[in-house]
Amino acid sequence: AAKANGRSGYAIFKDDMEALIVERRALERDLRSALDQPGQFEVHYQPLFEAKGRTLVGVESLLRWNHPTRGRVGPDAFIPLAEESGLIEALGEFVLRQACSTAKEWPIRTLAVNVSAAELKSPAYAMRVANILMSTGFSPGRLELEVTETAMSDTDGHCQANIAALREMGVHFALDDFGTGFSSLGRLQQLDVDRIKIDRSFIHGFGTDNGDEAIVRAIIHLAKATGLKTTAEGVETEEQSRILGKIGCDELQGFLLGKPCEAAALEERFFGADRTPTSAKVGGMPT
Ligand code: C2E
Ligand code: MG
Ligand code: MG
Ligand code: MG
Repeated sequence: AAKANGRSGYAIFKDDMEALIVERRALERDLRSALDQPGQFEVHYQPLFEAKGRTLVGVESLLRWNHPTRGRVGPDAFIPLAEESGLIEALGEFVLRQACSTAKEWPIRTLAVNVSAAELKSPAYAMRVANILMSTGFSPGRLELEVTETAMSDTDGHCQANIAALREMGVHFALDDFGTGFSSLGRLQQLDVDRIKIDRSFIHGFGTDNGDEAIVRAIIHLAKATGLKTTAEGVETEEQSRILGKIGCDELQGFLLGKPCEAAALEERFFGADRTPTSAKVGGMPT
């Protein structure tokens, strides 16, 4: 097609790049204005279960953006943009405040909230979290911040100081998407976290690929030896759940046991009128 139009491959590449940049600018502008009318953002919650007995023990907050014309935009599409444009701090604050006030009365041990490296680098981050905990009345010991290996290993910026200050307050930390970063298993002991969340790419091949099972078994074994809790992400089948239980994974998260959903749907399904958590009933998940 390039030759037919009499244009070089480079010209087409350049047009594509320009279109991409224009597109990104538009989305960034929309993101900025959406922050002034936060009705466009919605926090969803995905249940977290103890592997033994399948008891609901926590929830992970996951941000959703209902764009006025594009419909729902997933976080993988707009979080990176928010990070690059400096909007992540306002967005992160919105999610944390919203999640803390919503989950405050829920009969769960843990509220997990995702945090970007860009937020953790900011000098005032720990103070902002402290303020939100104070004003919502959410207990620091029930909050678990999910960070990536990159953020954890960041030596410049204020990441380490923020983590230390938050840990001092009793806030917990989990390493998200474990196995996709650059850390070796040997580095696990040096990381200042309470839990690792094993990336769903390792769970996916369970029952079909022995290699993944061996890797996950090794991760769990080492985590236990180091005193870390483990959560498996992306559990979609009974077979995966069975194997994870057998090899000693502490907690499970995935579509099998519950998809992310609105606060009201989660309350209705799991807490009932008396707000007592019930065990997962597979098949009855809200959509
Ligand atoms: P994450 O923290 O690893 O969250 C888990 C992601 O896996 C979620 O995608 C969830 O919907 C999806 N998931 C859960 N169970 C299953 C399963 O069984 N199968 C499959 N295929 N997927 C499953 P989601 O909601 O699209 O979020 C994507 C990522 O965006 C999150 O990954 C997190 O890194 C980021 N994110 C979401 N909300 C926030 C936020 O408030 N702040 C920040 N900084 N990042 C966020
Ligand atoms: Mg997460
Ligand atoms: Mg993850
Ligand atoms: Mg992720």
